[in-house]
Amino acid sequence: MTTHKTKIDTLVVGAGQAGVAMSEHLSRLGVPHLVLERKRIAEAWRTGRWDSLVANGPAWHDRFPGLEFEGLDPDAFAGKDQVADYFEAYARKFNAPIRTGVDVTQVVRNSDRPGFTVQTSDGVIEAQQVVVATGPFQRPVIPPIAAQQSSVLQIHSAAYRNPQQLPEGAVLVVGAGSSGVQIADELQRAGKQVYLSVGAHDRPPRAYRNRDFCWWLGVLGEWDAETMQPGKEHVTIAVSGARGGHTVDFRRLAQQGMTLVGLTKGFDNGVVSFEANLAENIARGDENYLALLDAADAYIARNGLDLPQEPQAREILPDPQCLTQPILELDLAKAGVSTIIWATGYSVDYSWLQVDAFKDNGKPRHQRGVSSEPGVYFVGLPWLSRRGSAFIWGVWHDAKHIAEHIAKQRTYLNYRDAAQRQAEREASSQPASLIGAR
Ligand SMILES: Cc1cc2nc3c(=O)[nH]c(=O)nc-3n(C[C@H](O)[C@H](O)[C@H](O)COP(=O)(O)OP(=O)(O)OC[C@H]3O[C@@H](n4cnc5c(N)ncnc54)[C@H](O)[C@@H]3O)c2cc1C
Repeated sequence: MTTHKTKIDTLVVGAGQAGVAMSEHLSRLGVPHLVLERKRIAEAWRTGRWDSLVANGPAWHDRFPGLEFEGLDPDAFAGKDQVADYFEAYARKFNAPIRTGVDVTQVVRNSDRPGFTVQTSDGVIEAQQVVVATGPFQRPVIPPIAAQQSSVLQIHSAAYRNPQQLPEGAVLVVGAGSSGVQIADELQRAGKQVYLSVGAHDRPPRAYRNRDFCWWLGVLGEWDAETMQPGKEHVTIAVSGARGGHTVDFRRLAQQGMTLVGLTKGFDNGVVSFEANLAENIARGDENYLALLDAADAYIARNGLDLPQEPQAREILPDPQCLTQPILELDLAKAGVSTIIWATGYSVDYSWLQVDAFKDNGKPRHQRGVSSEPGVYFVGLPWLSRRGSAFIWGVWHDAKHIAEHIAKQRTYLNYRDAAQRQAEREASSQPASLIGAR
């Protein structure tokens, strides 16, 4: 291990899409900076997700403004490795100063001088600013209701790769956001009996009247919404770009043999219990779906757009039996369930960031990424400034705001009054020999 000490104006921690976007904006503004990444650029896309994952948004949308996906139809959905390649290419494009394979282990504010001391796996760094771009999805979360069940394999969706990885037998997938629903669909297509535990969700149509839902959320101002609707804090979004993209339709999944169940409540002696809220959760998802169609129709009428009618989008399949007579308990052994996949989200890990930038609940205290600890910034978090903040296109705009904030602060700091300017002029006009002799 080398122990060199580096001084840098701005240190960015993490080189996922958030770190790459930060580096681009800092470079444009001439802010000297360094990005440290413990693994590789866009590692989460490369190895942190299941094999068949494709982006949830089409290639024209899920990208940064400065580069298109090479060789990909703009309406297609990039595979996870194509997304990782994209960010690597993007970083190369502007020669981003990224050092990979370096873990940041501690950041503390200096008590005797400005800035921060940063401990890393490759030596100590002195930085005036630290931008935290370590991602919103770091630690897989399995809720405490999960029981130790030695007869059943339990994994988080972060550890799921493909159906072949699982033992013979049925699977219970807990959580029906984009990850859970896509994994459940893939397992069912691979011939497995699947139980899917469905909580509160939004489920926009994949496309309506020839426009992808990403377009609709854009023109309707929803990506830019700055505050979450009250009561939506625990609502996930169920969308899929798999197999060319399709609307997530829970009734269709049930028609194809999947058993839908309500929110998972608890485990007792090998029996899982579910809340009696499946019908309500599905109904709310339908409401969300139909509301988007209504808003889209109104937008088309208001703007006089010539987009084809699509009345069949309003046809809802009949309720399957698992919806009208939901099961409230499942004996795992009797049902032959050999695997539980927890698609229940992630939390963050800021144990290395030892600064005063956190609320009592451990969440960063910030305004659009500018934290309460001067010189510390966060980027890439859900709702950092708007709904799109943790998504590919949204993080780029947040990074721009943060880079501009840093550049502005530097400008103020570099201000010199008349006496200082005069002193500097005199110093620069002195012969080199005299300067050296001082
Ligand atoms: C399954 C899944 C599918 C998704 N699909 C989409 C999609 O289709 N479209 C979309 O727009 N968004 C999608 N997202 C959301 C989001 O775009 C991704 O999660 C994205 O990876 C977040 O980028 P990031 O740069 O903020 O974080 P990350 O990609 O997680 O990058 C953070 C980086 O920081 C590094 N790091 C962490 N701690 C340290 C440390 N202490 N020192 C050094 N390095 C460190 C990590 O190694 C990592 O590379 C998806 C998320 C998930 C979980």
